[in-house]
Amino acid sequence: MKSSTLRTIVIGVTVLIVLIMGIQLYWVSKTYMLEEKEFNIKVNSALRSVVEAIRFSHKDTAPFAGVITQTGPDYFIADTKYLPDSTQADFLLKKAIEEYNIFTSFKYGIYHAATGTMGHHIYVRSGQLGGDPGTPLPRIRRPYNYIGVLFPNRERFIIHQMGFWIFSTIFLLLVITGFGISIFKLFRQKQLSEIQKDFINNMTHEFRTPIATIQLSTEVLKNNRAIQDSQRLFQYANIIEDEANHLENQVDRVLQVARLENRSLHLEKKPVDVHRLIRQTARDFDHNIRSKGGHFSLDLQATRSVITADPLHFTNILFNLADNAIKYSPVPEVVLTTRDEKEGILVSVSDNGPGIPDKYRKFLFTKFFRVPTGNLHEVKGFGLGLHYVKLYTKSFNGEVRLKSEPGKGSTFILHFPHSSAGETDQSS
Ligand code: ADP
Repeated sequence: MKSSTLRTIVIGVTVLIVLIMGIQLYWVSKTYMLEEKEFNIKVNSALRSVVEAIRFSHKDTAPFAGVITQTGPDYFIADTKYLPDSTQADFLLKKAIEEYNIFTSFKYGIYHAATGTMGHHIYVRSGQLGGDPGTPLPRIRRPYNYIGVLFPNRERFIIHQMGFWIFSTIFLLLVITGFGISIFKLFRQKQLSEIQKDFINNMTHEFRTPIATIQLSTEVLKNNRAIQDSQRLFQYANIIEDEANHLENQVDRVLQVARLENRSLHLEKKPVDVHRLIRQTARDFDHNIRSKGGHFSLDLQATRSVITADPLHFTNILFNLADNAIKYSPVPEVVLTTRDEKEGILVSVSDNGPGIPDKYRKFLFTKFFRVPTGNLHEVKGFGLGLHYVKLYTKSFNGEVRLKSEPGKGSTFILHFPHSSAGETDQSS
């Protein structure tokens, strides 16, 4: 996917997230308002029933209107006309509030219009949110007797009633945040991998041009009669040419492996005899390992050794592992093993080198990764060999894992399924 497409997707997803959150918040606030309205209606009805009962106890059955006034979001005044006694008020209020399912604490007082005083301040605990926050009852002057009821925990009660909405909003917020973070991380990674790709392309281009020029110039030099006449100069020209070719190979190798992606593998798979290629690898490296005072041991015990693979790349897998085993071990003792396994063959390359600490295991097969050794790089490399091994092993339906203990050497273990296309090697 192109970076610009990904950017459009990220912007689109961000807009969508903001939209979803906006809609959710709109619904939450709407629900809050509805809950608030319902609370007010319930309190109105409850207080109305209290007023009715008080008037009825005074044999007053005359119709009445506008007896309940709400002077603040949490304070209600119920015009009782008659001054109720505290026991009656207490009993009626508690009963009505319970009947109307208003499970939140309240504080009430009885206002005496003749004296202008508010008496009998009582706090009634109810529901889970029962604590008295200590809010005083407002004293509002009125020309009539009334009961003033305050719901100090009203807001918390309403929010409590909206439990499902709050929970779903928090859940949605978490999911969306997680989703957003993943998208941004993906975008960042994509950007980094593009930067890496650009860097590799630029770098190899920057190297290739001067290398080609050096190769061309050396050829011209070598064709020059004066150079040909001087043995020493001709030898120097040869050295320049060899080193330029060597450099060209290295640059090509980096470019090829660095560009490798699962999609770009070109494979020519056929039945391949693993034992034959292991022996060949051991022969190819024989001089190399002997020059370091070490040697190879072969322990090839698998009875079925043919798998389906691309012979060139399979050889390169063995080559990379054997090369590492030799170059990282001071006096390399390398053992190449095969064993029969359930539905396949196990191939392992063991060495007596420094081993690989556990903490680097998960990065080991990543492109360009090298086990950190401070500024000292005694063994040269690009950190591409194991990436190659992993990529191609997977392309042959195989698996690779590492068994290693620092100081005691490393064993790279490969597992491949048997060939389904026949048991005869068709790669030689
Ligand atoms: P390179 O060898 O070119 O650096 P590789 O991808 O082949 O790249 O290896 C990655 C890193 O893993 C190496 O830099 C080295 O630190 C570590 N490594 C690989 N094979 C061995 C081994 N046999 N013994 C010790 N360390 C190893």
